[in-house]
Order: sequence, then C-alpha cells, then structure tokens
Amino acid sequence: MKNKISKTREKWKKELPPDQFEICFNHGTEPAFSGKYNDCKEKGVYICSCCGTKLFSSETKFDSGTGWPSFWKALEDDNISYKEDTGVGMIRTEVNCNKCGAHLGHLFNDGPQPTNMRYCINSVSLDLKKME
Ligand code: FE
Repeated sequence: MKNKISKTREKWKKELPPDQFEICFNHGTEPAFSGKYNDCKEKGVYICSCCGTKLFSSETKFDSGTGWPSFWKALEDDNISYKEDTGVGMIRTEVNCNKCGAHLGHLFNDGPQPTNMRYCINSVSLDLKKME
C-alpha cells in the first residue's frame, strides 16, 4: 500500500469524535447490537471512517448473529493489515486499515462459504457509500 497515513494519536484524538477515537485508535469495541451497520442491508461499499479507504462490499456482508457487521471477504487484500492480538487471554487476529492504521475489528475462521472467514467489524470504523 502506497501513501500510508502516519498521524499521531494526539492528532487523531483532536480530529475524531470520542467514540471513534476510542475504537479506532485505542483498541476499543462498540457494544454488540449497538452499531448503525449491524442490521444494515443497503448496497454499497464500506470505507474506513477515518481515511476513506475501501474495505468491504455489501455483497459479502452476512448476518452472523454476533451484533457486529460481519463480512466474509475483504474488498482488496492490500487495504487491510493483520496483527496477532493476545489482549483478552486468547489469540485473535486483529484487523486494521492498511492506509491509516485504524483498528477495525477481528478476523475469525468460522464464517460462511466460500471463504469460511468472518471479519467482525465495528460500525464506528466504517462509513457506507451507498450505490444508487
Ligand atoms: Fe483508514
């Protein structure tokens, strides 16, 4: 990925609403079933709420029952970065925006066919660009 954004946490903190900063740059998680995109069925492309990078298509969104927007595939592999996260006493894969570094959520391997992947993403980390 070219032209990565390197901005200090202090700068993000000034620019973002508190809940967005907490989740995207302080490793937070929105409460289950609270996010605006959990039940969303509209068509479009979900972009990073911090920098606008295209992350997921509504075509790969599915109802996981977890309370968070869930996708079985990234829109473009290069737009997401992955990191091992041992924060809560188990090993999980953390998913971040590859351009700005914003925390998006986690990736699990219990998703539907054809990938068996489940990207479990905070609504706050996303903006839906609707298709007409
Ligand atoms: Fe981003």
